[in-house]
Amino acid sequence: MPKRATKRGAERTPLERDADVLICGASFAGLAVARELAGSGARVLMIDRYEVGERQTSACGIPTAWLENLGLMGSHQQTFDELVMHNPHTTVRYQLPYTFSTFDYRTLCELLREQGSDAEFDIAKVEGRTGNTVHTDRGDLTAPLIVDGLGWRRILGRGENVQPPDALLSRGLEVHPEGAGPDLEIWIDRSIVPAGYGWSFPADGEVRVGVGSFDPRFHVKEPTVRLAEDLSRDPVRFQGNWIPHKLRPATDDGIFMAGDSAGHCLPLTAEGIRTALYFGLACGRELRAVVEGRQTREQALARYHGFSESHRFPFDSMLRVQRLIPRIPPRLLAVALRGMTAQRFVDWSFVHYLKIAHPDFALDGPHGGRFAAGRTGTAARGAQPVGAAA
Ligand SMILES: Cc1cc2nc3c(=O)[nH]c(=O)nc-3n(C[C@H](O)[C@H](O)[C@H](O)COP(=O)(O)OP(=O)(O)OC[C@H]3O[C@@H](n4cnc5c(N)ncnc54)[C@H](O)[C@@H]3O)c2cc1C
Repeated sequence: MPKRATKRGAERTPLERDADVLICGASFAGLAVARELAGSGARVLMIDRYEVGERQTSACGIPTAWLENLGLMGSHQQTFDELVMHNPHTTVRYQLPYTFSTFDYRTLCELLREQGSDAEFDIAKVEGRTGNTVHTDRGDLTAPLIVDGLGWRRILGRGENVQPPDALLSRGLEVHPEGAGPDLEIWIDRSIVPAGYGWSFPADGEVRVGVGSFDPRFHVKEPTVRLAEDLSRDPVRFQGNWIPHKLRPATDDGIFMAGDSAGHCLPLTAEGIRTALYFGLACGRELRAVVEGRQTREQALARYHGFSESHRFPFDSMLRVQRLIPRIPPRLLAVALRGMTAQRFVDWSFVHYLKIAHPDFALDGPHGGRFAAGRTGTAARGAQPVGAAA
């Protein structure tokens, strides 16, 4: 049994204070914001309902260069230079122009937390907001700069939030049996999920097998168990969540939204870790310019909003492809998957895909490449990240 680190009962004493920056949510997005504020001299308070790294939120697959450039290779588990795609009529292997890796969630969060250790951290459950005051189960917290890194619920947004199954959300569920395997695998198969995909991501002694449905009404527990059993994996240690698949405004009523709260997860692939890191870094840099007196809060809101919006085209395009794929007859899709193995096409498409939230973005900002590990051949052969000049 994992040790419960989160404070409970009598340990939850009142927490009432103000800060220069209040970061709500201490997962990928929130921790990236805190990192960019380190050394700024700002009083930064970060809160989460759980201890940092306590609750894994994903299969933890990411382009390796993101781990390298952020100095997070200490969390690295397994590297893949191919992607294996299955449909009922074919299996194809794509030789990737850069590698993906799986990582250990707790270790990554702890490493990122160390880089932003100037921020004070406490455990509290966010319940709502009035103006610049965030209401938590331990009291009210006030700050002129507030970040919502709380995930898909977008708790600090204005008004009532759209709830599933009506929101533009996908369902994701996976199991974490012990085991090993060499390949990063994806299944596009209507017998598993009518709109979505199944996956198997090996990670150094465990294999993360799951199913994501782009239709929030389609339940994924039974297909997840079936896929695991088909792969001779034990359907044990479930973890799942809703996954947003539409970009939403990254600022709302004076609040900065980063990661899933702004729909920063890529709609076609449900890859939301590097984008949460990327937009978290961008948000942190804007906030740093405010606390250092280089711009006003309003300027930061406008610039960050514009930066996020500058990515709308690739996000919307991927949403269109997400909706198109389930309409393609499986035999035709098999032909298309085979046709796309041409190396020039693979390089072109994956490099463009990487550019949406390019790992070199991690080398900019106040820390530069200070934490970066040496590149290990994952070279992001490509140009600047989308919106880099914003
Ligand atoms: C099954 C599954 C597998 C996935 N696999 C991958 C993958 O392999 N690669 C990839 O790139 N993406 C993957 N994703 C998507 C990815 O997990 C998310 O896009 C990513 O976690 C978003 O990061 P975030 O920091 O915005 O939000 P989250 O990681 O969701 O973090 C939100 C934080 O806010 C805290 N919080 C929430 N509510 C409250 C509250 N009321 N009070 C206080 N704290 C609160 C939570 O405890 C959490 O720490 C997967 C998603 C699922 C569901």
